[in-house]
Amino acid sequence: MLPTISIVIPAYNERGNIMPLWELLAPVLEVQTKSWEVIFVDDGSDDDTWQIIVSLSKGIPGVQGVRLSKNFGHQYALLAGLSRAKGQAVITMDADLQHPVDVLPKLIDAWKNGYKIVQTIRQEPQDFSFFKKVSSKLFYRVFSYCSGVEIRSGMADFRLLDRQVLDDILQMGERSIFLRGLVQWTGYPRFDVHYQAQQRYSGSTTYSVTRMLRFAWHSIVSFSTIPLRLAIILGFLTSAVAFSGIIYALYSKYIAQSAVSGWTSSVSIISFLMGVMFILLGLIGEYVGRILLEAKGRPRFIVSEKTPVNNSLRMSNLQ
Ligand code: UDP
Ligand code: MG
Repeated sequence: MLPTISIVIPAYNERGNIMPLWELLAPVLEVQTKSWEVIFVDDGSDDDTWQIIVSLSKGIPGVQGVRLSKNFGHQYALLAGLSRAKGQAVITMDADLQHPVDVLPKLIDAWKNGYKIVQTIRQEPQDFSFFKKVSSKLFYRVFSYCSGVEIRSGMADFRLLDRQVLDDILQMGERSIFLRGLVQWTGYPRFDVHYQAQQRYSGSTTYSVTRMLRFAWHSIVSFSTIPLRLAIILGFLTSAVAFSGIIYALYSKYIAQSAVSGWTSSVSIISFLMGVMFILLGLIGEYVGRILLEAKGRPRFIVSEKTPVNNSLRMSNLQ
């Protein structure tokens, strides 16, 4: 029998969080449904996260583990878990206890009321750094503008998807994925549940500022070609500036009869234009590179190990 609810939890070096999370999760699941599965995805951890998942899965039939051959990144770890999930509704959440388990019943209730996407929205905690607040707001604005897909600040990968939406997403064959965008792009009616973000229980975040910037850039260019259009506009603007430079040069030479005042202006215009050319070339190169990656069609993640799934025991019972 297939489970009603699947929970997918990506984990990268989360040795201190798996068991505490499980202890909070188990009673909530048991109240919600008798038919559930929990899939932990070890995203190539360097610590003993995988051993902890394996021992948990040995003791509890509904718990499974998937181990990726290396660190593929949060989005791909989520995808690996989603591809394995069998539930009628699938919830994704982080392993570090920042996503409170008491939100789960609200997600499940909204799903039972007919919503196919139930998204959580994080209220920023008081101690959230000014930088993180501003950067995340800015990122979502730019992303929504470029992609035409509305996502808001605070929408993390903590959500419930109905099987129908999940199947649609799993069918999308693109290599470079940004789940937050893809989910909203499907266009199903969405219900939002607000929650207060928690502190990370143990360990530290892997999203450094550079990784966040890389993630933001990757999400925008994988979803939108507007930067290419902006590049064209930028090209026009600089050409206009360069053109007025030429008019000025001709005016100085033939009307004002004064020699062009030397190489400073020419050199600055040339170098400015060269700079813009390189930006544009780089931007085009970025998209060409993505076409190459998509064309290669490599698998998006590689599973190196799995814990066995015992179907007869899938109707999990914690007693
Ligand atoms: N994670 C992952 N692979 C990675 C980085 C993170 O599977 O390469 C997992 C991590 O274990 C956690 C979730 O993704 O469950 C969110 O990561 P993190 O807490 O570092 O991000 P933050 O909450 O700071 O945005
Ligand atoms: Mg976290």
